[in-house]
Amino acid sequence: MGTGTSGTYGELRIMDRIGISESMHKKIFSTLHHVFHLSQFRPLQQEIIAQIFMGYSQLAILPTGAGKSLCYQLPSVLLPGPTVVISPLLSLMQEQAQRMQSLGINAMTWSHWDSPQQRRNVLKDWRLRKLQVVFLAPERLRHPELLRQLNTLPCSLLVVDEAHSISEWGHDFRPDYRRISHFRHQMGDPPILALTATATPRVEEDILRHLGLSAQNFRIIRQAMDRPNIFLGVQVAQTHQEKHRNVFEAIRQESGAVIIYTWTRRQAEYWGQWLSRAFAEKVGIYHAGLSQEDRIQVHQEFSKGTLRLVAATTAFGMGIDRSDVRGVLNIGMPPSVDAYTQQWGRAGRDGNKAWARLIVTPGDIAQRYRMLLQEKPQIQAVERVMSILSRGPLHKSWWWDVGSSEKNSGPDESIGEAVLISLEEMGVLEVVAKTGHQALITVKQPVQSWMAAAMKDRLDQRYKQRLSQYESMKSYIEANRCRREETLAYFGQSSSSSSWVANQDCCDVCLEGMPKSSDTETTSLETWPRLVAWRQRIAQRDSVRPYIIFSDKTLRLLASRAPKTLDELRQCPGIGPIKLARYGKDLLALLQHDPLSVRVESAKTAKEQSWDLFREGIPLDQVALRVNRKPSTVIGYLEEWIQYDTTLSWRWYGESIVHPRVREKLEPILTQNPEMTLKSLFVLLKGEYSYGELRIALALIKKSWRSSHVGCKPDPNAHTASGGE
Ligand SMILES: [Zn+2]
Repeated sequence: MGTGTSGTYGELRIMDRIGISESMHKKIFSTLHHVFHLSQFRPLQQEIIAQIFMGYSQLAILPTGAGKSLCYQLPSVLLPGPTVVISPLLSLMQEQAQRMQSLGINAMTWSHWDSPQQRRNVLKDWRLRKLQVVFLAPERLRHPELLRQLNTLPCSLLVVDEAHSISEWGHDFRPDYRRISHFRHQMGDPPILALTATATPRVEEDILRHLGLSAQNFRIIRQAMDRPNIFLGVQVAQTHQEKHRNVFEAIRQESGAVIIYTWTRRQAEYWGQWLSRAFAEKVGIYHAGLSQEDRIQVHQEFSKGTLRLVAATTAFGMGIDRSDVRGVLNIGMPPSVDAYTQQWGRAGRDGNKAWARLIVTPGDIAQRYRMLLQEKPQIQAVERVMSILSRGPLHKSWWWDVGSSEKNSGPDESIGEAVLISLEEMGVLEVVAKTGHQALITVKQPVQSWMAAAMKDRLDQRYKQRLSQYESMKSYIEANRCRREETLAYFGQSSSSSSWVANQDCCDVCLEGMPKSSDTETTSLETWPRLVAWRQRIAQRDSVRPYIIFSDKTLRLLASRAPKTLDELRQCPGIGPIKLARYGKDLLALLQHDPLSVRVESAKTAKEQSWDLFREGIPLDQVALRVNRKPSTVIGYLEEWIQYDTTLSWRWYGESIVHPRVREKLEPILTQNPEMTLKSLFVLLKGEYSYGELRIALALIKKSWRSSHVGCKPDPNAHTASGGE
């Protein structure tokens, strides 16, 4: 992994050289071994920790998986006073506190989940320096009980986790983060360690400004975000059907854990259900609209490894304690490169090969743009919000419904929020507390009409920023240069600061543009698709997943070594005696481009060819034309395929195979009389549907009956959400 650093201290790497004492050096390593049971630091952890002991404030931008939490956990053991950690996610804080307690570190949370007595105890221990770590949610920073005692509470280090949340230009703005600087001042300005995984130069600037850090008293430590073990790919699907096919293939080729991200709750539901039907496998669904219990369950099952696939919105992410996520699949257009990078960063934290794929249609891109246009701030809307605020009492706390001041929900609520933040920054009002859409506010100065124009300017600025984020995302999708380079450039980093070298495991653009200079590469690039296609056919024939036949790794090895004899083939790892006997000859033929391989191709029957075409989602009449058989014959192939393909259902890549009405009519008749013949059905329905349609519907109904016996309930309504992407 690249370890490019920048800032005024970038060149100093080794602890001995940056002037902490020998005894401190020993203490740090002894704590690493004896408290955390680790033998060494990951890149940059050591520098960050050393600088904490030298009293510097720091902003550390480290990619997910780089080991951010150790950077404050270790110092908390050795520092004289408590370390205060501000973190946006309560459940995550509690988990971290528990984990630290299990290491013998006295870590507590101070949250509204605790009883008043517990909270008093925590404050007491904090004051007496008995605590080593206190976790606080940002909204606690306005709690009167805490604020009253703040100047009596010691703090050796203030940690700001997910520090990008302080910036409106980040992807997860939390207004309460703006209180941190005041909070810090009240505690006597202890050193800050601000941590984040993603920050553009703009966000970085915002973090420093709002934390009140100036160039003289802070250090920036930045690790290149190249993550070379993650393959980056983008697929622009031209149709709805192609999108389904791409999603299907991406999941089919992966046997490890995959997170499927969508941008709306409805889409998360839709894809979760679609995939679970397509693969006859449980797929977790996670979004903010589900109950707390449901979310905790999915979170836990996925963390424990009992759940492999989760379809989720961006709500799923922080605190996923699973390092072996092999793929992150994004469906639809992300709002910004920041948000997208944060999500794919969750793949391959164990350092093993993983992938990040974005599947998007031109329609998704257009839709994102239309949504943006709707958010364009209108002066009238701002004036309405301001006039409501101006009618409220002065110097008294009152509840204001941020969302309901306007008729429509979405954009207007964001105007309400933005107005609140701005007026609070201008000192016009104070937000005392906030729950959901409700804010408890105290207006300190009269709200005046001239403020509306200032507010509108501010909102315009914000809107422009969102437009430019959209443009950056669009250009990432359309890029014809390396996607890693594109990402690094977006975050103001250069590829030269990272250790990665363009190769076919880097991204789809690099893979396509690999120079075909050396012989081995030529062989490998030419042979690879043939091997993959062959494996696909065998997998279909034997009804198994492709990786069961051979892993990608073995195929890659075969492509690059190109063995010429059975003996040479036997030498390749991944090829045992059984596989050698079963596939050896076919493989040699394929690898040598022997005419034999052509035989393998042409040996496919019309039925097998039809099945291949069905898999691609080609309509029946076209399949009949292509394999040169009568439609009725091809329907026979389809009937057979319906029996054997567990992934096939009424919907096929999102399209109905037969008209839904056929099913509606047939099911009740067949329930009463399951043995009814095709001909009598045809007569009974007065020839309204063709024999072909009836045959397919019959096959599907009987299949769904069978699968409902084994607990796989067909869900005819699961598709209805697909209309509104
Ligand atoms: Zn690349």
